[in-house]
Amino acid sequence: MEIDNSKKTIGRYLITAALPYANGLKHIGHLAGAYLPADIYVRYLKAQKRDVVFVCGSDEHGTAIPIQAMKEGTTAQAIIDKYHPIIEQNFKDLGIAFDIYHRTSAPLHHETAQEFFTVLNDNGDLEVKESEQYYDEATNTFLADRYIKGTCPVCSNDNAYGDQCEKCGSTLSPEMLINPVSTLSGNAPIKKATKHWYLPLNRHEEFLRNWILTEHKDDWRTSVVGQCKSWIDGGLQPRAVTRDLDWGIRLPLSVNSQPLTEEAASLAVNGQRSTVNNVTKDDAGKVLYVWFDAPIGYISATKQWALNNEKDWKPYWYAPDTKLVHFVGKDNIVFHCIIFPVMLKLHGNILPTNVPANEFMNLEGDKMSTSRGWSIEMDDYINDWIKKENGGEGLADVLRYYLTQIAPETKDSEFTWKGFQDANNSELVNIFGNFVNRTFVLMHKLCGGKVPVFHNEIIDDADKQLIVDIKASAAKVGALLEGYKFRDALFEVIDLARKGNKYMQDKEPWMVAKRETVDGILSAEGKSSIDNCLHLCLQLTANLTILINPFLPFTAGKLCKMMKVVNRMLEWENAGRIDLLKVGYSLREPQLLFRKIENEEIEAQLAKLKASSESRQQINVTKVEEVKAQKELEPVAAEIVFDDFAKIDLRVGTIVAAEKVPKADKLLQLSVDLGFEKRTIVSGIALHFAPEDIIGKQVTVVVNLAPRKMRGIESNGMILMAEDTEGKLHFINPEISVNNGASVK
Ligand SMILES: [Zn+2]
Repeated sequence: MEIDNSKKTIGRYLITAALPYANGLKHIGHLAGAYLPADIYVRYLKAQKRDVVFVCGSDEHGTAIPIQAMKEGTTAQAIIDKYHPIIEQNFKDLGIAFDIYHRTSAPLHHETAQEFFTVLNDNGDLEVKESEQYYDEATNTFLADRYIKGTCPVCSNDNAYGDQCEKCGSTLSPEMLINPVSTLSGNAPIKKATKHWYLPLNRHEEFLRNWILTEHKDDWRTSVVGQCKSWIDGGLQPRAVTRDLDWGIRLPLSVNSQPLTEEAASLAVNGQRSTVNNVTKDDAGKVLYVWFDAPIGYISATKQWALNNEKDWKPYWYAPDTKLVHFVGKDNIVFHCIIFPVMLKLHGNILPTNVPANEFMNLEGDKMSTSRGWSIEMDDYINDWIKKENGGEGLADVLRYYLTQIAPETKDSEFTWKGFQDANNSELVNIFGNFVNRTFVLMHKLCGGKVPVFHNEIIDDADKQLIVDIKASAAKVGALLEGYKFRDALFEVIDLARKGNKYMQDKEPWMVAKRETVDGILSAEGKSSIDNCLHLCLQLTANLTILINPFLPFTAGKLCKMMKVVNRMLEWENAGRIDLLKVGYSLREPQLLFRKIENEEIEAQLAKLKASSESRQQINVTKVEEVKAQKELEPVAAEIVFDDFAKIDLRVGTIVAAEKVPKADKLLQLSVDLGFEKRTIVSGIALHFAPEDIIGKQVTVVVNLAPRKMRGIESNGMILMAEDTEGKLHFINPEISVNNGASVK
């Protein structure tokens, strides 16, 4: 190769892809949402010889990890040590080429996150508030994030978590859940006071409005700007950045009690900032909220990369000319466009240039979900397709191709196995693979396995048009990739291959060879015509290799081998050139780039999906039954003597009035006629009975229970109910109406 490209790099980019939780396998919807587009973009930037660092890693904190540990009957540490290497290897097998895949359990990350918190806290950029939070008395745990479940107020999904509803993607807080229960014990929680540090987003509304809704309204995706706008318009609230948990990054003890910077000090004096809220030994049970520490993971990953490569990490996070781009799914927009940028601004870092978030990818008509068994894990794809055959890495490219072709860039999209098969068979095999294969086969057959001469004197309109098309495609694909339009860019590459097929079909060099050969000798005109056609087809193949490389790196690697060129040919400035392959250069035999995918293979995958979803449902049903069985088998309480029982005064009464207690979804305020008096009793039955349905019913009442205040109402007694194994409540009435005040013995 005689291509002289200077080695210097231009621009500076720090590219991040959302840190996946190391709590289980990740599916191809995750791949399509963040990792694949990030990888395509990075490969393109590197081909442009720009200075790029691509960071990612495992998110190993938050309640998702200990919850998975409970499910697997092991420790949180064992969970992250199990899943971190699997996920890292899955990404490698699918060609996602991070410069570093770090972990948030690394000491370097803990230090980095603690330093970040300290800077914000010492500058008075955080507030401290005491509030009542849900608490599980059975396990002595505050119920943050995934430790609490309930009904989503947005979509009514019964299994929404305290931080997010996985069904509709809404960001939630535990207080927003309807009928919250502890995921640890299954019990309804109580409220308990606790102290936390908050990031007062409300102080930064003007900055966010200007920065997102004005500065970036045109260059960020509409859906991203739209989601940010609705967050900002909805009113920004202080957001807790600490949690009462024992898994996570401990709060760093304060050493300063004065703001660090003069600016912060003067603002504090003027009352524009909170005073510094020291972290003391009393706060030892608190950790940083996972969503505070996780994005800082991008910074600690960059630091570790710099250590590994003897580079300076600081320009990537402080130099104003660095372009920081976060690739995420739409459920992470708020964290990367609102919360993390506020943190970065306060800490003195650069802000993201863009956050090209994707929508969701569904699967065969339904939402992808690992817990429901309705998903394709990256690990499964790798085992079922890539590892099963020699040269199987080509099948990694098939998945990359289809996921990009249906990338949910502007709206939700859908993966179907039929679509996957079609994309492979009718585009990769029939268009791209076919063009390359015919070019190589004919070049070996008609040109002796060498790049033929181009005879300029007989250039015709079809040749000229193809040259124009090659140059135009190169420019167009580059522009689309710069604009994060990966789907359109890929379409353009395939369209160029399609044009190549048409060119060859029109020129039909195999027919020319037949027609122009007399007595075993090919005429000079015939030879020139064949040479020109195959020369251009080979230059087009070299161009297709450069253009397809960001999308299908394994295929580009095979093509380089066939053409006997080194990777430097893949540098983007070569795209559009038609002198990439030197005349007379001998090329290798063609390799099969893509194979046909048969109907049986697709049917097997569909059957597997169905089976996994059914078995998962079965497991879920069994779990419910286990819970029921546990309820039935609840042990009999400790023995008591008759005198203990005799202390309880039970009477029959009639409910004469019932109303809901304001702001308490579970409580009804009852008025019960006991014959000798009417009593006010507050009872936790509001979820089971409507007030109007129970008036007139007789109930058994504990009448000598000490009075208790609930929601400011004094309750004088307790009504008895039977609870069945499904948790439903039933009245225990006398079989016929008896006089109010009658004793129950
Ligand atoms: Zn929801």
